[in-house]
Amino acid sequence: MSLNDFLTQHPRLTKSFKNFVHDFQKKMDDETFTAFLDTLDAELSRVSGELQAISPESQRARTLHHLVDSEIDSEKEIQVSCRKGCSACCHMEVEITNHEAQILSQLILDGHPIDRERLSRQSLRELQDPLWKQGMRNQDNPCVFLNSEGSCSVYEHRPVMCRRHSVTTPAKNCETLDATITVRYFPKVDLYISAANEDSTVLIGPMAKMISLELGGRS
Ligand code: SF4
Repeated sequence: MSLNDFLTQHPRLTKSFKNFVHDFQKKMDDETFTAFLDTLDAELSRVSGELQAISPESQRARTLHHLVDSEIDSEKEIQVSCRKGCSACCHMEVEITNHEAQILSQLILDGHPIDRERLSRQSLRELQDPLWKQGMRNQDNPCVFLNSEGSCSVYEHRPVMCRRHSVTTPAKNCETLDATITVRYFPKVDLYISAANEDSTVLIGPMAKMISLELGGRS
């Protein structure tokens, strides 16, 4: 399979997965790279097909979460700095899918307490709003699910973008925003997410906006 055919066949690859594929192209001869693309193509189609067979959509998202967790857990030998209570990444923009918004909205409707006014204010921000770049310095930036101990109050239900975020540089670097931050890269996690995104029912957007839309649609 050629690279063009591969990209046409899989138009919703994550940006980082596309970069991963391009990096491999530089390291491999043509024959090996073609075989590599064939393998990726088969695996993307397999995972995508298996996920799309799952219903309802919220369960599809939960299955993706389990796949991602298993992959990250299988690579425990690499030291990660992320710890309970270090929450700088929970003050930044997080994108989620509409399927994940269904999970989180249901928790809210079931009584999980959040600051609805902050959710509303965050939902008015455009994608990549510069306010997110202020991180912990902006008091309106904390995720509505971040509790007073600096922990995620919906940890078991958190979106895939929160699950995949693993930093190897010191945790304090995440707080200052001007220090180097190295995020671990899991190619298989990216493959799973890319495969899940091939589902035509998947929409992606900023968390607060997606949750507000979902809540609005249910009231
Ligand atoms: S859902 Fe949880 S882990 Fe994700 S940004 Fe919000 S508080 Fe942090």
